[in-house]
Amino acid sequence: MDILWILWILPTAVALEETLMDSTTATAELGWTVFPVSGTSENSWEEVSGYDENMNTIRTYQVCNVFDANQNNWVRTKYIHRRGAQRIHVEMKFSVRDCSSIPRVPGSCKETFNLYYYESDGDTATKVHPPWMENPWIKVDTIAADESFSQVDLGGRVMKINTEVRSFGPVSRNGFYLAFQDYGGCMSLIAVRVFYRKCPRVIRNGAIFQETLSGAESTSLVAARGVCIPNAEEVDVPIKLYCNGDGEWMVPIGRCMCKAGHEPVDNGTVCRACQSGFFKPAQGDEPCLPCPINSRTTNDGATNCVCRNNYYRTDSDPIQMPCTTVPSAPLNVISNVNETSLRLEWSPPRESGGRGDVVYNVICKSCGGRGCTRCGDNVQFTPRQLGLTDTWVYISDLLAHTQYTFEVQAVNGVSDQSPHSPQYVSVNITTNQAAPSTVSIMHQVSRTVDSITLSWSQPDQPNGVILDYELQYYEKDQTEHNSSIVRSQTNTAIIRGLKPGGIYVFQVRARTVAGFGRYSGKMYFQTMTEEEYNTSIQEKLPLIIGSAAAGLVFLIALVVIIIVCNRRGFERADSEYTDKLQHYTSGHMSPGMKIYIDPFTYEDPNEAVREFAKEIDISCVKIEQVIGAGEFGEVCSGNLKLPGKREMFVAIKTLKSGYTEKQRRDFLSEASIMGQFDHPNVIHLEGVVTKSSPVMIITEFMENGSLDSFLRQNDGQFTVIQLVGMLRGIASGMKYLADMNYVHRDLAARNILVNSNLVCKVSDFGLSRFLEDDTSDPTYTSALGGKIPIRWTAPEAIQYRKFTSASDVWSYGIVMWEVMSYGERPYWDMTNQDVINAIEQDYRLPPPMDCPSALHQLMLDCWQKDRNNRPKFSQIVNNLDKMIRNPNMLKAMTPLSSGVHLPLLDRSMPDFSSFRNVDDWLDAIKMGQYKDNFANADFTSFDLVSQMTMEDILRVGVTLAGHQKKILNSVQMMRAQMNQIQSVEV
Ligand code: AMP
Repeated sequence: MDILWILWILPTAVALEETLMDSTTATAELGWTVFPVSGTSENSWEEVSGYDENMNTIRTYQVCNVFDANQNNWVRTKYIHRRGAQRIHVEMKFSVRDCSSIPRVPGSCKETFNLYYYESDGDTATKVHPPWMENPWIKVDTIAADESFSQVDLGGRVMKINTEVRSFGPVSRNGFYLAFQDYGGCMSLIAVRVFYRKCPRVIRNGAIFQETLSGAESTSLVAARGVCIPNAEEVDVPIKLYCNGDGEWMVPIGRCMCKAGHEPVDNGTVCRACQSGFFKPAQGDEPCLPCPINSRTTNDGATNCVCRNNYYRTDSDPIQMPCTTVPSAPLNVISNVNETSLRLEWSPPRESGGRGDVVYNVICKSCGGRGCTRCGDNVQFTPRQLGLTDTWVYISDLLAHTQYTFEVQAVNGVSDQSPHSPQYVSVNITTNQAAPSTVSIMHQVSRTVDSITLSWSQPDQPNGVILDYELQYYEKDQTEHNSSIVRSQTNTAIIRGLKPGGIYVFQVRARTVAGFGRYSGKMYFQTMTEEEYNTSIQEKLPLIIGSAAAGLVFLIALVVIIIVCNRRGFERADSEYTDKLQHYTSGHMSPGMKIYIDPFTYEDPNEAVREFAKEIDISCVKIEQVIGAGEFGEVCSGNLKLPGKREMFVAIKTLKSGYTEKQRRDFLSEASIMGQFDHPNVIHLEGVVTKSSPVMIITEFMENGSLDSFLRQNDGQFTVIQLVGMLRGIASGMKYLADMNYVHRDLAARNILVNSNLVCKVSDFGLSRFLEDDTSDPTYTSALGGKIPIRWTAPEAIQYRKFTSASDVWSYGIVMWEVMSYGERPYWDMTNQDVINAIEQDYRLPPPMDCPSALHQLMLDCWQKDRNNRPKFSQIVNNLDKMIRNPNMLKAMTPLSSGVHLPLLDRSMPDFSSFRNVDDWLDAIKMGQYKDNFANADFTSFDLVSQMTMEDILRVGVTLAGHQKKILNSVQMMRAQMNQIQSVEV
């Protein structure tokens, strides 16, 4: 610290001197004022010419009155301008005669003289003013000759020349005079120089300090502010230097440093831009560094070096680090298959890309005759599938007897920046035969006093075609040795001959050609007791009486039938939902098929919710905003953060408060249904909140909302292939639902949701809107046994409630029409009864504008009267796939010869003559937004509009291709209608 302080206070630059007056530069007489006045006295100062040490002529003042006592001789300089200086320095060269060298000199002989100054704002001095005396003059000092003399030959005598400097200040007037007083000496004033000092302009600590005058006192410090040199930045502020009384800089404070991309040169006085191939990342005194390997600069003054092609840095790589690249493929992969599991091992890649963070991803593809597809989510990877740090992975739950290709990719921190796919090594394997996996869910469908009907899910890994299931059961108090066996080709069975009120243990296992799988865990079910049985009959009688609206005779008959045929075989009486029951016991179902279970077949529908929907804790849900209104309450968007999972955006359906138990059950039934589905084109259930209020159903979020309004908002803005892609998605979701034996009954564009990638998903599995007491929505028309969306529903479903996957196919045809017409209302403004009549008379919707005939043909196929002639969803998917692969199939637009179908008159192009003016006509063709454009371009009459060409339509400012087409078609239609009128008039 002491050393630093010393360094700080040491002057850091040589002072500059600015001369105010120099007697040696006088070219003529100095003409200073003398007192007593020359001529009146012999004894005063006298101006004499002489020579300096270089033998230049100079003017000097001399006096020598050593023999007369009481001398008082003054000589006064001319007025000297101060020029801003506060402290004045006077350098005097003079010689003094040694009194002792003068023979007989009296004691009054002096060897000194006095220096004075007098300040004045102007040159106002006269011979008598200021008076020749101390005060008003201010004495600076008494000047004596010192020891070090130089000798010159002046006028033949040997004289010694002294040089003395004296300073005074502060001075504040415009100028001043100096005076020299002799009081009895013999001396010569050879030269007088008057000057002040200043600190010079310097660059210190990266900052420029301008020239600064020194202070008034020898000890005073004048602060000067520094300014950073170009390309330097302040690091410590303030940036200061102090100019001392001697014109020297001292005590530097603060500093500037060269900024990033610049280095200090020339002793820190210049910040120079880093040259090509060099960089400096931050401000500082360090020099520029050469670019790391595989990087380069693009210009001088670089603050970093960019990576060369195919080399990258991650966000966390330091910029001094060389750029790196992707790794090469892993080496020597070996596989070891064990039934439906396998272990893969490999060696690290030869090239790590220059990084130490190589990890491995394993991609699984199952390969059949039609190429390879990615494996589903059910395949298990241990420790995990992606980001493996070890060079092995264990893969299980593969399908038996299946060919797989595994690609082991090597990736590192920069792989995601490379446009190329990661390099991989692949291995093909075929799994062995394996028995089916365990059945995990079994539940009771119904029970009587002596029977129980059970149903169970298909094993997650059937590992082949399931031939049948084996159900083992025994009384709870018995052991497995006393068990009985029942076989079933479907995943349901009725176990008869049981004891009333008996508790039985059930286990089920599946069988394929590879043999039996393991038994499921034990499940306990109980038959009805006699008491329960009697109560249930009593409860059900009024229901049966009411719903059948039968008379007394019918009641008696019914009671007789019940009494006669039951006690042994009475299955659960039909509930109010009977006709919605999905007949999963129907014989044609392939064994092992995963089937849909109607939540209302559960004695306690809450049980179905528990089984099929995950309970979510309300603390994981964050509601953000209301996005719509549902049957039972608001629909909101929000976030779901499940422990250990990424936060996701979700839709939240809420059940409004004040609900009845039945409303709660109906609301949650949608979740019990949705929770059984897992398909990319069926809306995915995340879970339910039932343990807190409000009750919620949480599903994936679909950014674009429902398909009908989405299409209306984007009228004409998609390509045919995009529209067919959406239709394909819907058909694929419906195929999945049909395969699960689920009949939707309300397939319509309003019940399809669209996400941000235009993926369409089937939604709306609520049953409640079909119920009679709901009158809020005109789309659903009351019909016998519930409400029906007439325009979307197949005739057999309207007439005698025959809802099947084939009636869903009819509705799908209507959805196709909705999609191709961008959300037009099916059958426009026709009444429901007109629609029913028209369909009955074989009229069908015409192709929407610009609809390829292949698509309209598919719609007509879906609207076959005989439901057996309608295509299955699997055929629809294949058909659409063909069109997508071969877009030429979508080129033909010619109207089809309608065959058995009669096209309805297309009401989307109304007759122009029914409109008052062009504005009304534009509204009718849903192009009302262009009214101003038409008016501004003077297309204000039907005559003018009917002559419009594509150029005209462009010119009025219709830029969307879909809208251009729509207007052009309507104009052409108008022209045709006009021609017709004219020919009639002719
Ligand atoms: P719903 O009761 O299912 O008819 O839903 C009412 C409205 O809420 C729908 O028309 C959509 O606009 C919106 N909605 C429902 N579910 C979702 C979802 N998963 N993502 C985005 N919006 C949805």
